Amino acid sequence: MFRIGIGFDIHRLEKGRKLIIGGIEIPSEKGFKAHSDGDIFFHALTDALLGAIGYGDIGQLFPDSFQKWKDADSSIFLREAYRIIKEKGYSIVNIDGYIVLQKPKILPYREKIIKNTAKILNINEEQIFIKGKTYEKIGQIGEGDAGFAEVIVLLKKEK
Ligand SMILES: [Zn+2]
Repeated sequence: MFRIGIGFDIHRLEKGRKLIIGGIEIPSEKGFKAHSDGDIFFHALTDALLGAIGYGDIGQLFPDSFQKWKDADSSIFLREAYRIIKEKGYSIVNIDGYIVLQKPKILPYREKIIKNTAKILNINEEQIFIKGKTYEKIGQIGEGDAGFAEVIVLLKKEK
């Protein structure tokens, strides 16, 4: 049996924060303002994995009222979602997503993000694809004050 999941995440960008996407630090004058490290790609991916099996969502599992998650490395959330889908007998077929950011450009970091994500999820790099897009200067995202990510995953039940 196959199951599909979708996830979305958005955070504001502000000066003086590190820009972390897919667990990779990207040189930038602004980073995501969030309770955790604000990794939009890992947050959207975590939600997509949990959603695919109807388990819940990232906000339920890791409430941002928990002091514990302050500036947390979001790979913790992703690893936990992966542990849950494995426990339920699912494996990942593929992941496709996009990251929307006016600047900096995502493309030079795409390979690193894919590599890191594949490592965490114990899959091949060929099973993941990410597009980097801008928002054509429209609204706050287009002005570089926010960024968002959307991810879709396909899971297969192994047993
Ligand atoms: Zn988030």
